[in-house]
Amino acid sequence: MERTYLIKPSLDDTLPMIDYGKGVYLYDREGKKYLDGASGAVTANIGHGVSEILEAMQEQAKKISFVYRSQFTSEAAEKLAEKISSLTPGDLNWCFFVNSGSEAVETAMKMAIQYWQEKGIQTKTKVLSRWVSYHGITLGALSLSGHTGRRARFVPLLEDFPVINPPYCYRCPYSLRAPSCGFLCAQELEHAIKRIGAQHIAAFIAEPVIGAAGGAITAPKDYFKVIKKICDENDILFIADEVMTGFGRTGSMLAMEQYEVIPDIVALGKGMGAGYAPIAAALASEKVIEPILAGTKVVMSGHTLSANPQSCAVSLAVLEYLEKNKIVSEVESKGEYLMNLLLQLKNQYSFIGDIRGKGLLLGIEFVEDAANKTPFPRNAQITQTIIALAKEKGLLVYPAGAGIDGVNGDSIIVSPPLTITKSEIEELVSLLAETFEGFS
Ligand code: PLP
Repeated sequence: MERTYLIKPSLDDTLPMIDYGKGVYLYDREGKKYLDGASGAVTANIGHGVSEILEAMQEQAKKISFVYRSQFTSEAAEKLAEKISSLTPGDLNWCFFVNSGSEAVETAMKMAIQYWQEKGIQTKTKVLSRWVSYHGITLGALSLSGHTGRRARFVPLLEDFPVINPPYCYRCPYSLRAPSCGFLCAQELEHAIKRIGAQHIAAFIAEPVIGAAGGAITAPKDYFKVIKKICDENDILFIADEVMTGFGRTGSMLAMEQYEVIPDIVALGKGMGAGYAPIAAALASEKVIEPILAGTKVVMSGHTLSANPQSCAVSLAVLEYLEKNKIVSEVESKGEYLMNLLLQLKNQYSFIGDIRGKGLLLGIEFVEDAANKTPFPRNAQITQTIIALAKEKGLLVYPAGAGIDGVNGDSIIVSPPLTITKSEIEELVSLLAETFEGFS
C-alpha cells in the first residue's frame, strides 16, 4: 500500500503497519509482537485496548461528539474539570482544555502574561526556561525549549531562548554534588532575573523530570523548593510542564507533589487521554484566575476542538480507571523494581553511563567512555541504532537527547504503561539486555 503522510521519522522509512494493541503489547499486520516499553511517547499510561475506555467513547459518541466551546458546555467537560481539580494538590481548580501538550504550554504562557496584565502590569511578558528541556513544537513552546535538535533551524521564528542550566547532576557544570552544591543551577535563575529585570518576566517554566531533551533527568529533592522561592520573591509565576509526568507517571498525580511544591500553573497532556483521544489542559490556581475573573473574564486562548465532549469523556474514563484500579499507588514500587533490574545491566555494559528517573519514567544515557563520561560523537547515531535494534527484538523505547554538542549524550526513555506487571517488567529488561548484547 502506498503511504504518503509526512510524519514518519524519515520519509523513506517503511514503518510496520499496526494491527491492534492489548495491554502492554502491540501487534503489527505481519503478526509481530512488540512490548511497548515507552508507552508510545510516554502516553499510553493504562496500556492498549482497555474496554472501559472504549465503552465510554461509545457512550459519549451516542450522545454528542462535538459542540463549540463558546456555545455549549457538556457534562463530560464539567466532570473532567472537577475530577482534575480533585486529583491535584492545592487550589489548582481551573482547567482550560486543549488538544496537545504544546497547546497546553502555549495556553499556560498566555495565562501567565494575562494574569499580570489583568493586574495592571503590562511589562511582564517574558517566560524564562532552562536548556536541555522540551516544551512543545509550536513556536511559543519551541522558543522555551532547550532542545537544539528541534529548534535550530527555526531560530529566526522563535521569540526567545532558554536562560539557565538544568539540574543535570550526571554532568554537573559546577562538578559538584547535591545537596552540598547549594543548588547553584537553581540559583542561576536568580542571576538571570537580575540581568533581565523581574519587571519583564511573567513566569518561569520547567519539567519536573526532563523528558525528550534529556532522558529522564531528575532534579534532586530540594531543587524545586529553591526555584519556587526565587519565583515567589521576584513576583514570577511558576509553570510546571507536567505534560509527560502528569497523571501518575512518576508515582503521584503530579510529579511536583514529590518535590512538595505547588505550581501556579500546570501544563498537562499525554497521559490525560492516555492515547485514546487528543486532549491536554492548562491547569491554573485560584490566584492566577482571580484577576482574570475580575477583569476580562476570558482566558485569551482556545481552539475549535477545545473541551470537545468526546475527548473529555475519554479523559474522564482514563482518570476514573486510574483511580478505580489504584494504579498510581503501585508506580513507585514498579519503578524501583525496573530501576534495580536496569542497574544490573549497567554493570554489564560499559557504554551505559547513567540510569536515572522517577517512578516509571526512567532514562539510560549512553557514553563512549564511562570513566570520563565522554558522549559518543553526535553523527554516530547511537540512540537511533539502539532503538532500531530494540524494535527488531520486539521492544519499543523512546529516543531522548537535546543534540547540544558537548552538553549531553545519547539517551533513551524507558516508560512502559503504568499497568505493566512484574513479569512484563522482567521481559522488558531481558529484551533490552538482548538489544545491548547485539550493540556491544
Ligand atoms: N511538554 C513536554 C514536557 C513534553 O514532553 C511534550 C511532548 O513530548 C510536550 C510538552 C509537547 O506535547 P505534544 O507533543 O502533545 O504537543
